[in-house]
Amino acid sequence: MSIEIKTVGCRQNQYESIILKNLIDKKLIFKDINNAILINSCSVTSRAMRDTRKIINQAKRAGKNIILTGCVIDKNIIEDQEIIYLSNSEKHKIVYKDANKYDPILSRPMISIETGCDKFCSYCIVPYLRGKPIIREFDKITDEISFLADRGFVEFVLTGTNIAMAGNLIRKILNWANKSYSDIRFRLSSMDPDYLKNNIDIYKKPNVVHTAHISMQSLSNNILIDMKRRHKFEDIHKITHTLLEFDPLFAVGGDLIIGFPSEGQYEFEETYRYLEDLPLAYVHFFEYSDRNGTLASTMGNKCSNSEIKEHIHKVQTLVNKKKKAFKIKNIGHTLDAIALNDNRVLTTNYLDVFVDKITPRKSKVKIHVNNLEEDKLYGKIV
Ligand code: SF4
Repeated sequence: MSIEIKTVGCRQNQYESIILKNLIDKKLIFKDINNAILINSCSVTSRAMRDTRKIINQAKRAGKNIILTGCVIDKNIIEDQEIIYLSNSEKHKIVYKDANKYDPILSRPMISIETGCDKFCSYCIVPYLRGKPIIREFDKITDEISFLADRGFVEFVLTGTNIAMAGNLIRKILNWANKSYSDIRFRLSSMDPDYLKNNIDIYKKPNVVHTAHISMQSLSNNILIDMKRRHKFEDIHKITHTLLEFDPLFAVGGDLIIGFPSEGQYEFEETYRYLEDLPLAYVHFFEYSDRNGTLASTMGNKCSNSEIKEHIHKVQTLVNKKKKAFKIKNIGHTLDAIALNDNRVLTTNYLDVFVDKITPRKSKVKIHVNNLEEDKLYGKIV
């Protein structure tokens, strides 16, 4: 039996693919299907959609059986009689059925705590595709963490479609881990600022690394209203400064969407100006991608494509400067990190550093950051 897995899209998909692979290898699912490819697809952006179609076409040309799951199928975006479909809801039942016991391929295993979202931000297709949040049972999550912690994994990424949907469960997991495994620590994946307004203290817990990835999406309050987000620029400002007061080397970063339909020159300039002032360590930015069925797709565009390209270029240049400034700020400091492959480590504040020695993958290390050369940080194990 051979089933290859291809994953497009978010961390939640990546997590699910690791679990599906494990179940396939143990012959617990799809045991009668041979010469196949399982595609865990995404349709959140037009690019992800294109990538999914490309993999399907390649698999067809190679004469493979195709099992398709993920976000492209629940709205019948791709219909093909030769394809075997696994709906998102079936997939979640399989993935969340038991406590998962597997050998992760990553140094920092992802632990899914929820899937789905019902916030219906105006640009987002996810609530229509993934459906209402399904919160995973606490015992299954802690069993999975215990299984991996007992095998030497020390850092975990709590992940999901929008982990803020899990509410108090996040705190409960962190408190349990603090008592049961004092040695392990957690990264929290993308975090809704609306949740952080009243829960910023979770980043001050001793077992949470000092990286916060905040789903900002825009820094213009007009746009945030049109996006149907539940926070304002002032919240992002407060969150960023609170974390930096707690630890001046805290990596505060996040996501921004450029080219949202109602974003005109004025709103873009506003986002840009605020972005200039915010002491962020990094920003992931995306060009707005129109998804049929969302509220935003019914709005007219304010900026032309050429203006959006120009805005992206401006943001890219600014973000590069911020990333460099954050790297320079860390030179001369001793930081906690986890060993990745070869002589690379990832610090708890999300810096990739090349060090003088190779240490076993996934072990905890302390490093001293020495210098920056051609955009790469170098340091030594202390
Ligand atoms: S909170 Fe995130 S996942 Fe939920 S609708 Fe908004 S953007 Fe989409």
